[in-house]
Amino acid sequence: MAALSNYFNLEEITTARKVSAAVINISGRQRMLSQRSAFFCMRLVGSVNAAERAKLRGNLLEAIALMAKSHRDLINTDSSNLLSPPSLTVKAMYFEGPLYLDKQVREYIDRIKALVQVPDAELSLENPDLQYIIAAAGDKLLAAFDAVVSQYQQESEIEQFEIDFKQVELYQESCAATSKAEAQAAEIDRALREIKETQAQLMHSEKMSSIGALMASIVHEINNPVSFIHGNLSHANIYTQDLLHLLRLYQEYNPNPCAEIKDIIEEIDLDFLVTDLPKVMSSMQMGAERIREIVKSMGSFSRTDNSKMTQCDLHDSIDSTILILQNRLNAKTDRPDIQIIKNYEKLPGVECYAGQINQVFMNLISNAIDALDETAQNRPNAQLKIYIRTEVAEGDRVRVRIADTGWGMTAEVKERMFEQFFTTKAIGKGTGLGLSIVYKILVENHRGTLRCESEPGKGTEFIIELPVQQT
Ligand code: ADP
Ligand code: MG
Repeated sequence: MAALSNYFNLEEITTARKVSAAVINISGRQRMLSQRSAFFCMRLVGSVNAAERAKLRGNLLEAIALMAKSHRDLINTDSSNLLSPPSLTVKAMYFEGPLYLDKQVREYIDRIKALVQVPDAELSLENPDLQYIIAAAGDKLLAAFDAVVSQYQQESEIEQFEIDFKQVELYQESCAATSKAEAQAAEIDRALREIKETQAQLMHSEKMSSIGALMASIVHEINNPVSFIHGNLSHANIYTQDLLHLLRLYQEYNPNPCAEIKDIIEEIDLDFLVTDLPKVMSSMQMGAERIREIVKSMGSFSRTDNSKMTQCDLHDSIDSTILILQNRLNAKTDRPDIQIIKNYEKLPGVECYAGQINQVFMNLISNAIDALDETAQNRPNAQLKIYIRTEVAEGDRVRVRIADTGWGMTAEVKERMFEQFFTTKAIGKGTGLGLSIVYKILVENHRGTLRCESEPGKGTEFIIELPVQQT
């Protein structure tokens, strides 16, 4: 919070306080001067010492000069003095009944002036000016001074109260302004973060779609030659079997071939060839099958079509993801194979953006592999398993659970894992985007849910639920 002095004009407040203190002070002094001059007047009349009388006359002239000046200062509204003009009430006290203080003061001063002029010999207690002065100082003038001083005091208190009130108001305003500014700053902060997030997501989906496009073109290129091989292998298989059959018949009917043929039979180790050739053929067949599967998976994985929802077989999607990640599951120098244990229930087709759902499985299974990799490094005998279970859930939904036996998550990681850019992995390994994208795809784009159960040392399970139909 900024300093209060930024909001209040402290100088103004201090000046106002000084002015009202000065007014109270001056009018108090008026009262005191009136009393003192009455006392001097009595002493003047009572004194028998000429020198003392002369001194008292001087004192009196001084006192009334002061009184006159103060009086002018107090009532002169357009004066050049620093005092503020008197209020209407004060003015009325000076110029209207019942007090007529202005008149009283001037009369009082005039009477003192007159008394001072009276020669020593004529001074007596019966002097009418003295009578007037004593009466006024003890009664009417004193009462009027008291009234005006207390009025000044009251006004000053009201003014003080107003200043205080204004201060409180200003303070409240400043608090409101501050919290508004804070809210605006938070809003700007939020907007900035959103822009940053959107940008990151865009970059990521851009990357994913260019990977997708690249995959699609590779799939396209490989598809034809693989089809040749795969398509012709079955013919080649039949042909070799036929040829081997023919060979056997020849050997049967011609058990003693000529020397040249005998040499070649020995050279090529015909017996071994005959037993090995079918094996070669079948392993070629298996290899071709495998290539076809991979190509098919890549084909389905490279679907980047986000404009249209399609009926999707989640098992296909999971299987092709696993196939693409196969290399990462295989044994490494520092750890054995990662086992995948699948437990699929029969699922209906799920209406979804297939490319996005592939991405979900890709991110979750990659995270599980990362966790298992790390676990293996810290605990050499750890089990390295990923369980993938699917089931039909209540409310026309399907549920997929992906669990790993990795080292799990701490409470802090669990709390922050969906945050964009949050990663516990080394620079270059983790982007911190995976789970935030998974969340967005499932929850925002597919009305699905995503839950995570994880315990340090025990492993992690992500539980996905998706509605079968989107509408
Ligand atoms: P990244 O994988 O790039 O770090 P993610 O958003 O995919 O970003 O994951 C965020 C963080 O969540 C990871 O850095 C990791 O700490 C934690 N995490 C995600 N999945 C798992 C898991 N299966 N086991 C343990 N920790 C996980
Ligand atoms: Mg990740």
